[in-house]
Amino acid sequence: MKKVLVSVSARHLHVSAADLAALFGEGFELSNKKDLIQPGQFASNERVTVVGPKGEIAGVSILGPVRPATQVELSLTDARKLGLAAPVRESGILAGSPGCKLIGPAGEAEITEGVIAAKRHVHLSPAQGSEFGVKDRQVVEVKITTADRATTFGDVIVRVDENYTAEMHVDTDEANAAGCSGEVWGEILG
Ligand SMILES: [Zn+2]
Repeated sequence: MKKVLVSVSARHLHVSAADLAALFGEGFELSNKKDLIQPGQFASNERVTVVGPKGEIAGVSILGPVRPATQVELSLTDARKLGLAAPVRESGILAGSPGCKLIGPAGEAEITEGVIAAKRHVHLSPAQGSEFGVKDRQVVEVKITTADRATTFGDVIVRVDENYTAEMHVDTDEANAAGCSGEVWGEILG
């Protein structure tokens, strides 16, 4: 069985060094609240408000470390509330996505693009990719068995990299659709 742990990504953002400085002050560094499953990635203690044309959401947490470009990952429910037409995108593919305003304790940042709904995906190490017989960028289906809402997701992109370990990421809309709670596992089909 090709089973992967399913993790739910709540709304969050990744920030560039320049935007971090604008939001929290020059020289500020993200503080590690909790290591994530993917090696080197962490949830920080820092939070900002994300503002769109129709509303705002406070307390959105920043994941570290800093990245070359700021990227805001929302559920489509969140995006609608803010009045932002967030496209479903792979991380880092931001061209043509909407921007927004970010408010931090030391200032604001206006981004011209970067608001997306993350395309659901599975992270695997190269060894795990070989074991499961899947390649980087392959699109698969993943069956999630829960008590009341067993769901098979299509359009799941596999990402294989030496910096990854086996884990599927879905957002809160997807997790709710599948009735995910507690520890949930997905089976890669095909
Ligand atoms: Zn991920």
